[in-house]
Amino acid sequence: MSQAIESPSYPSQQELRNAPGYPSQKRLEKGPVVVIECIEEIPCNPCEQACPQHAITIGEPITNCPHLDEDKCIGCELCVSQCPGLAIFLIDLTHSQGSASVAFPHEYLPLPGKGQTVRAVNRAGEPICSATVVRVQNPKTNGQTPVVTVAVPRKYATEVRGILRPGR
Ligand code: SF4
Ligand code: SF4
Repeated sequence: MSQAIESPSYPSQQELRNAPGYPSQKRLEKGPVVVIECIEEIPCNPCEQACPQHAITIGEPITNCPHLDEDKCIGCELCVSQCPGLAIFLIDLTHSQGSASVAFPHEYLPLPGKGQTVRAVNRAGEPICSATVVRVQNPKTNGQTPVVTVAVPRKYATEVRGILRPGR
């Protein structure tokens, strides 16, 4: 009996790179910049409103996918916690020699601590490498969405999208 092959429930790297919210490799190499992995045409625009640099545009209709003006993004991270779809990440390929930092929304408790070693996961939630927690941001303005930044080997920067809860 043949088995149906299910396609993954997350977009491919190529689909994401083709989206208007994905920065160029040239911009990624320059330093902190957001990667917007939002490719569904949904009525949503908090990311556009959150950016003080006007680097994200949705416009009309509101179902447009977010467009990133990569030269305007200063990597302030403000938009990461404001996305209800948890689809915005901040990548810094210049974090240190050989390592990159990745910031992502993290709505699980307990929160990790700075300096802690954790396991980083990809979009499918599969562990792919070890990571060191660089920063945990949880001001009131983030609502219920803390933002965790981890350092990972540079080659995993475009794959790491979260961490396992400490102790798992
Ligand atoms: S990181 Fe800051 S500057 Fe860049 S898109 Fe987000 S809010 Fe705008
Ligand atoms: S806030 Fe998030 S889900 Fe909504 S349009 Fe922006 S990136 Fe997409």
